[in-house]
Amino acid sequence: MENWELIIIGAGAAGLAAGIYGARSGLKTLIIEEKMAGGTTSDAPVVENYPGFPQISGGELAQKITLHCKKAGVTIRELETVTDLDLTGERKIVKTTRTAYEAKAIIIATGSHYREIGVKGEKEFRGRGVSYCGVCDGPLFKGKRVLVIGGGNSAATTTLYLSGIAAEVTVVHRRDAFRAEEALVKDIASKKNVQVFLNTEVREIKGEKLVTNVVLFDKKAGETKELAVDAVFVQVGEAPNSQIARDAGIEVDDEGYIKSNIFQRTNIPGVYAAGDVTNHPVKQVGTAVGEGITAALEAYGYIRQPYYYRK
Ligand SMILES: Cc1cc2nc3c(=O)[nH]c(=O)nc-3n(C[C@H](O)[C@H](O)[C@H](O)COP(=O)(O)OP(=O)(O)OC[C@H]3O[C@@H](n4cnc5c(N)ncnc54)[C@H](O)[C@@H]3O)c2cc1C
Repeated sequence: MENWELIIIGAGAAGLAAGIYGARSGLKTLIIEEKMAGGTTSDAPVVENYPGFPQISGGELAQKITLHCKKAGVTIRELETVTDLDLTGERKIVKTTRTAYEAKAIIIATGSHYREIGVKGEKEFRGRGVSYCGVCDGPLFKGKRVLVIGGGNSAATTTLYLSGIAAEVTVVHRRDAFRAEEALVKDIASKKNVQVFLNTEVREIKGEKLVTNVVLFDKKAGETKELAVDAVFVQVGEAPNSQIARDAGIEVDDEGYIKSNIFQRTNIPGVYAAGDVTNHPVKQVGTAVGEGITAALEAYGYIRQPYYYRK
């Protein structure tokens, strides 16, 4: 079994930031990532709120953080999924699709995944017009009619991104107002090719080989109507990737987010959580980075026990 001092699960903003601080503290640090390093940051069309970068594509920002992490001396194993954790002993065991590892401390930075709306047609047309990522699939619908579902920041940024690609963008939100930042809502209102339907639910996604129509229900009017669209972008929030942690005895809140304190400690000594998988109320690149840094420095204290470490 390979031996490491610190193993970080997930190479998103939180995991990569933790990696930089872990390696720079002198810890033998490994990051295990089931996809390619970069995480959800890569899905953000444009990032305009990460300090130091007034405007940068999510892909470029993710690349820069990954490169920085590699330069710090972290080993990143990509395309390897962590399947099981044994956190009962002093040495923590991490099993993956490739092998098993041992570490003195673990940071769980597995992020979250897109929520589904659970209507007829959503599963059938996934990848055939139904998408959860505007920046990944938006360019496929250049000059077409697209629908965005949701009212938060993800729905708003996806709408703005798609308005520069698609001919028409319709946004459907089941409540009577957006939850997104005011600046984004104003930007949406200024776009000539964007129409907004509030108090409206999507009841079905229809098509043949590809998506052709959606069935909408106007909750105020009590009316059902059909709208012709070529793609549906579901942007109704995320759920945490916390299953392996839960199975290993890590405490989570009602929604499944890992409970961590201001030191990013979980209920198991030597196990930390950082980023979107935690119950921290803000889910941003900046907060993920901050939590990753705190987790790595705490893991350092736990492993090396310097005189100033608060037990
Ligand atoms: C469309 C969109 C736009 C956004 N725009 C902005 C923005 O403008 N500004 C901003 O600050 N934030 C933005 N965000 C939010 C931001 O991207 C996230 O808050 C941040 O990336 C979270 O980082 P993380 O490291 O916690 O999680 P992630 O980046 O999701 O990383 C988690 C990683 O863990 C890996 N993983 C999961 N399970 C396993 C496993 N079992 N084994 C191995 N690896 C695993 C995943 O593959 C993933 O790479 C946006 C998000 C979206 C979706």
